[in-house]
Amino acid sequence: MAGEPDANCLFCKIVAGEVPATVVLETETTVAFRDINPQAPTHVLVIPRAHYPNALSLATGAPAVAADVLATAGAVAEHEGVADSGYRIVLNTGAGAGQTVFHVHAHLLAGRGLEWPPG
Ligand code: IMP
Repeated sequence: MAGEPDANCLFCKIVAGEVPATVVLETETTVAFRDINPQAPTHVLVIPRAHYPNALSLATGAPAVAADVLATAGAVAEHEGVADSGYRIVLNTGAGAGQTVFHVHAHLLAGRGLEWPPG
């Protein structure tokens, strides 16, 4: 159920400390950790602690936490020293758009040229 931990979810296991991750920042409602397969010099994933499968379910089920995810991404950008040079926040939504982990996560990408439109 949305908002409740999912025993089969990789990112719920990271939140629970059952799977290791390189954590960059944590808040009461969010965790930010380095992507295991970075696509840019800075590639950090920001997730809500609570399990929501995608951005829309988070925005409708826990809108304050959706705002927390964005605020944490901004704090990570400051922490990583990329806030002024620019960064991209990506929320892949659905398998057709490349989502592979169905616990909503914001990709924070920075540190290289970022093409537009993205591939
Ligand atoms: P998606 O394709 O938008 O769902 O992004 C999932 C991301 O999770 C990918 O960029 C993966 O590299 C990343 N990933 C998968 N497993 C782990 C892990 O155990 N730790 C950190 N990142 C992971």
